[in-house]
Amino acid sequence: MSTTRRALLLGGGGAAVAGAAGLTGRRLWLDREPAALPAVDRSGHLLWQNWSATEHAYPATRLAPTGADEAAHMLRMATGPVRTVGAGHSFTGLVPTDATLVSLDRMTGVLGHDPATLQASVAAGTRLYDLGPALAAIGQAMPNLPDINKQSLAGGTQTGTHGTGHGLTAVHGGIVEFDLATPRGEVLTCSATQNSEVFDAARVGLGAFGIVTRMTLQNQPLTRVKKVTSLRHRDDLMLGWDDLVGKHRNVEFYVIPFSRWGQLITHDDTHEPIRPRGPDTDTDGQMQLKQARDIFEFAGSLRAWALDRAIAGMPEQIAIDEGWKLLSNERSVRNREIEYHVPRETQIAALREVVEAVERYRSDVFIPIEVRAIAPDAAWLSPFYGRESGSIAVHTFYKDDYQFFFTLIEPILRRHGGRPHWGKLNSLTYADFAALYPRWKEALAVRDHLDPEAKLLNPYLRRVLRRG
Ligand SMILES: Cc1cc2nc3c(=O)[nH]c(=O)nc-3n(C[C@H](O)[C@H](O)[C@H](O)COP(=O)(O)OP(=O)(O)OC[C@H]3O[C@@H](n4cnc5c(N)ncnc54)[C@H](O)[C@@H]3O)c2cc1C
Repeated sequence: MSTTRRALLLGGGGAAVAGAAGLTGRRLWLDREPAALPAVDRSGHLLWQNWSATEHAYPATRLAPTGADEAAHMLRMATGPVRTVGAGHSFTGLVPTDATLVSLDRMTGVLGHDPATLQASVAAGTRLYDLGPALAAIGQAMPNLPDINKQSLAGGTQTGTHGTGHGLTAVHGGIVEFDLATPRGEVLTCSATQNSEVFDAARVGLGAFGIVTRMTLQNQPLTRVKKVTSLRHRDDLMLGWDDLVGKHRNVEFYVIPFSRWGQLITHDDTHEPIRPRGPDTDTDGQMQLKQARDIFEFAGSLRAWALDRAIAGMPEQIAIDEGWKLLSNERSVRNREIEYHVPRETQIAALREVVEAVERYRSDVFIPIEVRAIAPDAAWLSPFYGRESGSIAVHTFYKDDYQFFFTLIEPILRRHGGRPHWGKLNSLTYADFAALYPRWKEALAVRDHLDPEAKLLNPYLRRVLRRG
């Protein structure tokens, strides 16, 4: 979420009052940089770490194929666990391996396109931030994008990465065909008509079916969108959520904890003239919320007062441009995240419980709670399989404790029928997923057939994909 420099008003008088009361002490004591891991282990293997620093490994071998056949050959010959990495932006233990880590950073770019069908063939290692301009150059755009665009195309789709908007699926909903290099050394082309079971099972596949090397995406014409960011009373956002979802092309909101405010972000198609987005203010905004937390952590009403003073009356921000320039944001404040997708009908009830729990028990939380809507799809391991979903995400600052995700937040989201985001923190194992996914067994049968020696399974995936 972004606020403007107006939030700097938070300092000044409030800080003096709270500082005098000694309220900053605990925060200053806790606010320390976590110890860095050794860059190299005893065997001389280099450290791999994910973006959020929740996962790491020292892979003995690192491979970077340049084509599908090479990827398949490498996979057949490599020592397991063989894990493929995209941009390392998943929070869960999907990627770590001490054996073989494969990167598709040498397999990038748009490989071909069809102006009639608006389809494009894309190398699977392409980062979303490169894909936007490359598609724009051929008059195409992806229908939707996630909140950041750092992910690789395969890394994003393998975990069901999504944006928000009524009738808009997660990114993998646009996959028409993909090529998969398997541990048997084959390259399978998969679509609704060719290897269709693999298509259904592996479109969201956690990198556990093989290496996706190329995809054909169904795109849309390049359009211009109007992005409006505004502050609203959070109760109005919750009450009006269904109407907002129906009214806008893309809509999401953030609840600013310990305040009566929320931030609404909408995107709608427009032919209005371009108004480029301004400099990103997200880091400033989050640091101001942190400042309010640090100073007023144990003085809830003072915190609400300070936030109100900083937020009330902040002007609307408007930007108009091509969608790929506006839909994703910079999120440079390192965090930890839990996100569940609940049935849309129960989303606001679940959100109210989550907000109440955070405000009652976790005064250390300051990052806004994110709320989005996602259309159903038919990929067997998609968290949106067969149902209209509403997502709820709680974040903590990277220096703060996040164990309460599993004891306080997750039980609420599970009670509301939620399925966790594959790339975000959760405590679920095989039996839990088996109960949440109607096609779980069929998907795992396809996986076991493609990878009979379980070469692609690291310890985390064994807990998720193997009966305990
Ligand atoms: C700051 C931040 C913001 C985020 N915002 C959003 C958001 O708005 N919406 C959302 O849904 N998620 C979001 N995420 C989560 C993120 O999109 C997912 O975790 C995504 O999987 C990360 O992509 P990646 O390229 O980093 O993949 P990685 O994390 O590197 O890998 C993810 C999975 O993909 C597999 N994989 C990678 N490449 C291949 C390949 N070529 N073939 C087969 N498998 C492969 C890996 O083995 C792994 O299982 C966010 C994460 C962060 C850190």
